[in-house]
Amino acid sequence: MQLVDQLRAFLPSSAVLFDTEDLKPYEMDGLSAYRQTPMVVAIPETEEQARKLLQACHAASVPVVARGAGTGLSGGALPRGDGVLLSMARFKKILHIDPLARIARVQTGVRNLAISEAAAQYGLYYAPDPSSQIVCTIGGNVAENSGGVHCLKYGLTVHNILRLRVLTMAGEVLEIGSEGLDSAGYDLLALMTGSEGMLGIITEITVKLLPKPERAQVVMAAYDDVKKAGAAVGDIIAAGIIPAGLEMMDRLAIQAAEDFVHAGYPLAAEAILLCELDGTNEEVSEGIMRVHDILLASGATSLLTAKDDAERLKLWAGRKAAFPAVGRISPDYYCIDGTIPRKQLPMVLARIRELSAEYGLRVANVFHAGDGNLHPLILYDAGKPGEMERTEELGGKILELCVEVGGTITGEHGVGVEKINQMCIQFKEKELILFHAIKAVWDKNGLLNPGKAVPTLQRCAEFGAMHVHHGEMKFPDLPRF
Ligand SMILES: Cc1cc2nc3c(=O)[nH]c(=O)nc-3n(C[C@H](O)[C@H](O)[C@H](O)COP(=O)(O)OP(=O)(O)OC[C@H]3O[C@@H](n4cnc5c(N)ncnc54)[C@H](O)[C@@H]3O)c2cc1C
Repeated sequence: MQLVDQLRAFLPSSAVLFDTEDLKPYEMDGLSAYRQTPMVVAIPETEEQARKLLQACHAASVPVVARGAGTGLSGGALPRGDGVLLSMARFKKILHIDPLARIARVQTGVRNLAISEAAAQYGLYYAPDPSSQIVCTIGGNVAENSGGVHCLKYGLTVHNILRLRVLTMAGEVLEIGSEGLDSAGYDLLALMTGSEGMLGIITEITVKLLPKPERAQVVMAAYDDVKKAGAAVGDIIAAGIIPAGLEMMDRLAIQAAEDFVHAGYPLAAEAILLCELDGTNEEVSEGIMRVHDILLASGATSLLTAKDDAERLKLWAGRKAAFPAVGRISPDYYCIDGTIPRKQLPMVLARIRELSAEYGLRVANVFHAGDGNLHPLILYDAGKPGEMERTEELGGKILELCVEVGGTITGEHGVGVEKINQMCIQFKEKELILFHAIKAVWDKNGLLNPGKAVPTLQRCAEFGAMHVHHGEMKFPDLPRF
């Protein structure tokens, strides 16, 4: 293959894979329902190699899909059969930690947790903590604007980075952002964050580090009704308390997690809330007392406050392992990610339950309740004819419900291929045209991760024809098929 020869001119042969058995491990990311074997996988080690690769692909009009650790749940790193899958896994150096400025400069393939591990010697850590943090890369986190338990208090990835080094599809190097709190001009740092590998390839990231809090303490509250647990979330925030984590799990998720990691969850509960506070000793002690009062007033049937750090980590272990735990009780599961205004939690959880019964598919809920960021996991069996299609339809209905109540179709997992149709519901034609215009400025020929995240207007017209929402047809001017 001519492209392979070109790539081998500047990459060692072990960094250019094209035999079928070498390509197989790259055919999907965390959204295993979608698979595609790439034409070639390239694994550069230096920015110069990545730059030359992009130039070669640009000249040959070959699409390029970036990949970090491949844990994305919306199919963002799904390869193209006619393209190069660009693995950034070998960019794994922590380049510099400045404990005085509380920043770290790292390469894109560094694992999220590795940053906190390296910063621990200075009493510092990197706050955003996706549950996949032991494997996912910081570059993938930036490309998806990832969140985690701590993001309620400390913000998403976009709030915790300062600077990026980026390669364009044409192979130019861009420096975006600064180590100051603000930069002149348009906020390209925010634009790149959540751009799902469609605007440029990130090679280096400067992140903010925070001092490790003196103390953290978690309370688990059990409820006999999911709606009461949902309402308690709003009560805590309304009282002016900002927990370091406020997570919720429903009965199915509790049972799966307990069976898997024995975290000490109450099996009879319909829902649990995990509410963590951090700060100084005094702040945490006072805050925990207030949280206790609020949870009891909201109808909690029992409360458990972790007595030491080991018990705290055990309670979190169940939450952190909830996705794989659900994977043990069903042949397949489909993780939805949508965000709603917190006050809508009780109503939306009740509606999800109704939809689950309507579609005859079990749904486990385990999510960042404080952010209103839902993760309904739809349990299905891909081996049963029609079940995958029913699952996708149910997932679509849940996302549309999020938009209907004033929320969005993604909280932290991105759009990828999974939610591309729902983008047509979230956005109007004018907004989509702007998205396409932005993409064209960065990547004129549309070679970076084509077909992801931003739907064509044609696609929306076709989807709109199938999907008339509240009697309103979307994109009425576009021809239907
Ligand atoms: C068990 C489990 C739990 C999870 N929990 C969470 C959670 O709590 N919060 C959360 O937000 N997410 C979570 N995720 C989703 C996922 O881990 C995140 O989206 C993560 O940021 C993806 O990182 P990655 O390195 O695996 O990226 P990949 O999956 O490899 O790629 C993700 C996207 O980023 C692009 N990309 C990757 N690297 C680059 C680069 N260098 N330059 C440009 N584009 C790039 C890819 O093209 C793709 O579009 C979870 C996933 C799993 C499997």
